[in-house]
Amino acid sequence: MGLKAASDTGPVTVVMLADATDWIERLAPLLPGETLLDTEEAALRPGDVDVAIVEGTAVGLKAFPNVRFIQSTWMGADRIVAEPELPAGALLARMVAGPMTASMAEFVVASVLFIHRRFPEYLDQQSRREWTEHHQPFAAERPIGILGAGTLGSASAVMLRACGFPVRSWARTNRANDPTVLTGPGGLVELLNTSDMLVNLLPLTPETTGIVNREFLGLCRRGVGIINAGRGQHVDDAALLEALDSGQVGQAILDVFAVEPLPEDHRFWTHPRVRVMPHIAAASTGAAVAESTANGVRAYRSGSEIPNLVDGTRGY
Ligand code: NAP
Repeated sequence: MGLKAASDTGPVTVVMLADATDWIERLAPLLPGETLLDTEEAALRPGDVDVAIVEGTAVGLKAFPNVRFIQSTWMGADRIVAEPELPAGALLARMVAGPMTASMAEFVVASVLFIHRRFPEYLDQQSRREWTEHHQPFAAERPIGILGAGTLGSASAVMLRACGFPVRSWARTNRANDPTVLTGPGGLVELLNTSDMLVNLLPLTPETTGIVNREFLGLCRRGVGIINAGRGQHVDDAALLEALDSGQVGQAILDVFAVEPLPEDHRFWTHPRVRVMPHIAAASTGAAVAESTANGVRAYRSGSEIPNLVDGTRGY
C-alpha cells in the first residue's frame, strides 16, 4: 500500500524490509515529502527509484538499476558489500544507533565479567554441590584485547575501563595520539601475547575472514577467554574446538556463527567451555533504527555529508 506523501512522479525510496508497511509508517513522519514505497509498488516504476532502504542484504536490488544511495538498517555491511550485483557507483550507508552501541558494550562487559569472576567454574561446582573458593584476581590484573576499535570496539573499551580493566585494541589504521590502539601483524601478535581475554568486534572482510585460526589461538596466553560478537566467519570452528579441548582457550562466549541458527549437532552446543548466545549481543529499538535510517536518506537528499558511509574497497 502506497503511503502519504507518495507522489506519482519524481524520485522514490524503496523500503525493502520485512514488515515494510510498518516501517513506511514509522519513516514517513521522519521523511516528510519523501515517496516511500514497498518493493511491490516500487516495481511498477523501477526507473524512479534512486534510494533503497535494505536489511543487511542487497538481494533484489538489481530490479532498481537507478539506485544511487543504499541505506541499510543493519550495522554490519558485509553481506551487501559482497553482493556482486550492487548498482554501480551507488553509495552505501550502514545503521549506527546509540542504544545498539551501548547494548553491545554491555554484552562485552557482561561476558568479560562472567569469565573474570569465574562464574563458569562456580556454576559447574553448584551442579555438584561443591563449595570451593578460587583465587580471584583484580580487574586491573586482567588485560583485555579488543579486535576492532570502531564504533562498537571503542564503546566496549570505555565501559571495560570503567570497570578497571586495562584495555588495548587492534585496528587497521594508526592512531597517532592513542598508544592503546595497535595495528599491523606485529600489533596483533603483541595483543594476543598479552591479553587474558580477547573480544572480537571486527567487520567481516576478506582480510578478517577466518582470522581466529590455529596460529592466532596458538599466540594467545594459555587459558585465554574468547568472546566473539563480530561474525561467525571470523572463527575457524575446528581450530577453536581444538584449542578448547586442549585448554589453550579457557572459555568462549560466542554470539555469532558461520551458520545461524547454530546447527543442532554442532559441538559448540555441548562443549563445557562454550556459552552459545543466539546473536543477541546488541539490541536496539525500532525508533532508533528509523532515526538512523531517516538521517541517512535526509543527508543524501540534501547533499550533506552522509553519516556511516561504508567504503566498498575497504569492505566496511
Ligand atoms: P566499525 O566502526 O566499522 O569498526 C571496525 C573496526 O575494525 C575499526 O576499528 C577498523 O579499523 C577495524 N578493522 C577493520 N578491518 C581491519 C583489519 N583488516 N585489521 C585490523 N583492524 C581492522 O564497525 P563496528 O560498528 O564497530 O562493528 C563491527 C562489527 O560488529 C560489524 O561489522 C558487525 O559484523 C558486528 N556486529 C555484531 C552485532 C551482534 O549483535 N553480534 C551487532 C552489530 C554489529 P580502523 O579503525 O583503522 O578503520
